[in-house]
Parts: sequence; structure tokens; C-alpha cells
Amino acid sequence: IAKKNRLEHFAYYHSDIEDQMQWRLNMIRQLRNDFSNNCLELWYQPQLSLSSGKVIGAEALLRWRTTDGKFVSPAVFIPLAEYSGLIIEIGDWVISQACKKLQELEETFPDISISVNVSIPQFRQENFVDNIIETMKDHKIKPCKLELEITESILMDEPQIIIDALTKLKSQGVSIALDDFGTGFSSLSYLQKLPLDRLKVDRAFVTDINKEGQSIIAATIINLGKQMKLKVIAEGIEEIEQQERLIELGCDEVQGFYYAKPMPAEEFLTFLNQQK
Ligand code: C2E
Ligand code: MG
Ligand code: MG
Ligand code: MG
Repeated sequence: IAKKNRLEHFAYYHSDIEDQMQWRLNMIRQLRNDFSNNCLELWYQPQLSLSSGKVIGAEALLRWRTTDGKFVSPAVFIPLAEYSGLIIEIGDWVISQACKKLQELEETFPDISISVNVSIPQFRQENFVDNIIETMKDHKIKPCKLELEITESILMDEPQIIIDALTKLKSQGVSIALDDFGTGFSSLSYLQKLPLDRLKVDRAFVTDINKEGQSIIAATIINLGKQMKLKVIAEGIEEIEQQERLIELGCDEVQGFYYAKPMPAEEFLTFLNQQK
């Protein structure tokens, strides 16, 4: 009986994996299809300076609306895009869209910068760095207005290749931010090897920042950033009390639903005009 149960269990488990694999392949096929039919959108979430209260830029965030009108979360489709290699084409598109937007904003909002998220497979492209430099030139934008957001996990693979690429981009004036800082597993020694401009305090360290003993990590990241002469931006601010605490802790910049949710490109323009 025990053996029979095991086999049944195995059979059940087996089909579960198969279903999951089928689901992933299906999603990847749909993603490839929708991407080539221009169904991906790049939305923008404002970032503000805590000292001036002004909008200083935005993070560009991908949105996938499937043909039935439903959104698939980036947390679901980005890993699939990475796994399938699709992230390379999609990532190129994201960077060129962001540069196009910067060019559009140049005249009316010359101080706005845009951050884009980049994934490991993008760095494995031979001409990744040159492509970015060329795209910036094509759109006549100042490199300092484009920021690349990387995560600690980027250093698990081939750190040297990535450090070299980032160093080259930085020397051109592109800004580099370390996203989701403190949620990964990398060693702190990498912080000195990376050519960083900004540290992003993850939402996980902001949510309970006003609960007893819960602001220690945010405070430490902010101090670390200050010591390293980096700007520190906190993400995931949803309440004014979190903003107040972040000001006390000396944080420079913020991004979160309290100020604005990610929004389509046209809405972002309206938002900027209203802030004027
Ligand atoms: P991320 O880069 O850490 O982006 C911040 C995420 O936090 C976004 O989720 C944003 O909508 C969300 N967020 C911002 N403020 C708040 C807040 O106050 N409360 C809450 N609950 N959430 C907030 P989103 O857009 O779902 O993106 C998830 C992740 O997907 C991103 O995390 C990023 O890692 C990835 N991603 C999105 N777009 C791209 C892209 O173009 N390329 C790559 N490689 N990854 C992307
Ligand atoms: Mg990000
Ligand atoms: Mg983040
Ligand atoms: Mg992230």
C-alpha cells in the first residue's frame, strides 16, 4: 500500500510539474507574441526630492496587458522573459523608450531623469554598452539623465563583466542605482567595486519603519549611503508618517503610492504639468 501511495504521489507531482512547464511555455509564447504586436507598455512612477518636494524623475516600469485586457504582473513575466532570453529584446525596447521620453521632456522638463531596470542577460550581449551609448546619442539626451537600476543578484554570475560594463557606462555619465538593496545575498564588499550613484532602500524596510525597533535597517542603509557619498532613495512610501520618519533619518529621495502610482506615459506628462 505504501508503495502504491508513493507512486500515486509521484504521478500527481509529475503532472504538476508538467502543467507548470506547459503554463510557462504558453506564457512565454504569449509574451513574445504580444511584445511583437506592441502590446507592452512602459509606465512611469514619479520620484521626489525630500528637501525640495519636487519631482526629480521617474522609474520606468513595464506593463503587460494581454489581449483579454488583464495585466500580468512584472513579478510573473520578467522572470519568464529572463528565462527565455526575451528580456534582451524587451530590455532594448525599454531603454530606447526611456530615451525617447527623455528627449520629449527635454524642452519643458530638462531636469527630469528616468531610471530603467536592467537584468543580467542584458549584460551578456556583446554590444550592450555601445547600444546604450548610441541610443542616447540618437535621442540627443545627456547621459546623466538616464539611470540603470541593478540588483545585488547581478553580481552572482560574472561580476567582472558586469562591473566593466557599468564602469564604462558610468564613465560616459550614465547614473547607476542599486535596487532592492539589502534583500539579496551579496557581500557588502561589492558596494565599493560598483560605480554607484544611488542606493534604493527596499519597500520591505520602509513598510514598518515607525514600529518599535523596525527602522534600524533603513537607518543603517541611509547612513551607509551617506558615508559612501551616494544618494539614497526609499521606495514603497504609502503614508505620510513613513515620509516623516525618512526625513528624520536623512533620506534624500522617495518613490511610492503616497505620491503617485506608476502611470502611463501621457498621464506622467499631465502629472508633471500639474506639479509645475
Ligand atoms: P522594482 O524595480 O523594485 O520596482 C518597484 C516596484 O514597487 C514596482 O512594482 C512598483 O509598482 C512597486 N511600488 C512602488 N511604490 C509602491 C508602494 O508604495 N507600495 C507598493 N505596494 N508597491 C509599490 P512592479 O511595477 O510590479 O514591478 C515589479 C518588479 O518587476 C520591479 O521591481 C522590477 O524588478 C521588475 N521590472 C519592472 N519593469 C521592469 C523592466 O523594464 N525591466 C526589468 N528587468 N525588470 C522590470
Ligand atoms: Mg527598480
Ligand atoms: Mg526595488
Ligand atoms: Mg526588484
